[in-house]
Amino acid sequence: MAQCAFCSAAFETGPGDLLLVCPYCGTAQTVEGAKFKDHYMIRVHFDQTEAQTTLLDWCSKQLGAPGDLSAKAHFVGYEQIWYPFWISRVDADSSYNGMGKDANFYDEWPQRRGAYKRIDFFWKPESGRFERRHEIKTTAVEGIDVDIQNHPIPTRAKEYFSHSHAEEFGGKVLHSQISEDQARTMARTRAEELQTALIMTEVDKIESRTDKIDVGETFLIHVPVWELEYRYGNSKYKASVAASTGYVIESKYPRSMAFRAAGIGFGLILLLGGIGLIALALDLLGIGALLPYGGLLSGGLLTILGMALLYKGVSRKEAKENL
Ligand SMILES: [Zn+2]
Repeated sequence: MAQCAFCSAAFETGPGDLLLVCPYCGTAQTVEGAKFKDHYMIRVHFDQTEAQTTLLDWCSKQLGAPGDLSAKAHFVGYEQIWYPFWISRVDADSSYNGMGKDANFYDEWPQRRGAYKRIDFFWKPESGRFERRHEIKTTAVEGIDVDIQNHPIPTRAKEYFSHSHAEEFGGKVLHSQISEDQARTMARTRAEELQTALIMTEVDKIESRTDKIDVGETFLIHVPVWELEYRYGNSKYKASVAASTGYVIESKYPRSMAFRAAGIGFGLILLLGGIGLIALALDLLGIGALLPYGGLLSGGLLTILGMALLYKGVSRKEAKENL
């Protein structure tokens, strides 16, 4: 539990939370009670109903989705979660000296232009400079879904965090488990890695380098996501939809019976073909071993493929689709 340094309300916190957002007045604050001002959000443009419609439209277009999905799906759960991210703008300027691989070509084949009898590779000193501005995003809560971590955030559309806006949809605003200082340190490390990757496109070995890394504007941004759950037939399916853009971050969806039956049918054909090949290879039919090795190998592969398709068809596990 924590007590808000601004409205005095007591509210829940988890063990790792370092930058808190009071659920009563919306003030972002450190655990010591210092107000944090650079707190932004992306506004909600898709309310719950619009997010549900967008989701079912998307799912209906997926391979093997049942035709009556939109009509028969029934939403049983929804929650709006505001996920926190740190964004840092980092100016990086790296100069490097290194060694690149080069080659000399000798004795071109007369009949084949561009082909040489002898190629000597050698190391060549290279130097250069990369100046870049990086926008580094750091997920502020551990263990959240990778697809949510990686979904695009339109940071240009950011506005100051509005408590009443988040409250309008009953949104749950998560605390940040990363402090501003930690976010800046992580952004610096990440920017250095990106600069290294740039340098490595030019040289194979870095001999020396100087980096000037300036971590500039760093802010906390809360991004609203609808966590939805719907029922179709006897199963429930979960989905995450970005509340600001309507982007389907991830979703499970049912496969129609016809689609699954086709999978089972195809799986059976492969399985029988595989068994047939193995039988031929091992001469189980007593007609002399045809295709002894190739038959065993391809028969085995077909059998495995067939069993995998059968499993996918029979099991009720839904497919997950990412954009
Ligand atoms: Zn408060």
